Amino acid sequence: MKMKISTQNLSISSVCKQCGRELSQEFFYVNRQTQCLDIYCKGCRKKIGRCPYNSGSWIRKEQRNKYSYLVITQVEDPLVRMELILHVLKVVRQSVEHKRIKILEDEADRTDYV
Ligand SMILES: [Zn+2]
Repeated sequence: MKMKISTQNLSISSVCKQCGRELSQEFFYVNRQTQCLDIYCKGCRKKIGRCPYNSGSWIRKEQRNKYSYLVITQVEDPLVRMELILHVLKVVRQSVEHKRIKILEDEADRTDYV
């Protein structure tokens, strides 16, 4: 089900990358430098702010993706790499520890240690 707003007068339309609506070009700002239509509609652009990097949720999402898909060995900065490795080790240790405690608890439930 696709909502199409384009009419004969407004034949050129573009899909907003933010809300996914297909809108006529009148609903988009035009980049003065590239003369290209904005990838966000005016409504979304207002919500996001002039600069895409100002958007709080957007940048948080980007950072999340960046870090979750980060390949540690490809990090060039040795300090950052070390920090990431330590972080991963900590997480792994915690989950192993958690599992170990869980197993002990399960055993304690089942076994009588007298
Ligand atoms: Zn939009």
